[in-house]
Amino acid sequence: MSDCLFCKIAAGEIPSSKVYEDELCCAFYDIAPQAPTHFLVIPKVHIGSVFEVGPENSGTVAHIFEVIAKLAKEQGLESYRVVSNIGEQAGQSVFHLHFHVLSGRDLTWPPG
Ligand code: 5GP
Ligand code: ZN
Repeated sequence: MSDCLFCKIAAGEIPSSKVYEDELCCAFYDIAPQAPTHFLVIPKVHIGSVFEVGPENSGTVAHIFEVIAKLAKEQGLESYRVVSNIGEQAGQSVFHLHFHVLSGRDLTWPPG
């Protein structure tokens, strides 16, 4: 999608601190970290949110979770949270599917 921030980050048109990249997804550090470790994992194709996940793209989402597990192991994360906000009331501000990976501090539950 031409006017999407995360499509531009995935394409390298907007700089980011990339942690990982392959043909289906990329991971980069959040610009406003909410924990000592806070990176985002996104599909390279535009998917608006979990609302738009279906048979045509669920393989990419499964792949993203494999990447999250691999990166967490590589970074030595012993405990972490994976979050995807869906819709404005849940806190979504960028409407390209992304999974937050947060670690390195006590995380409250239930979330605020
Ligand atoms: P959401 O609020 O949609 O769940 O998450 C969007 C996340 O993207 C936020 O945590 C925000 O800090 C991050 N973000 C917004 N703009 C940029 C940017 O230009 N670069 C990076 N690396 N992160 C961004
Ligand atoms: Zn996009």
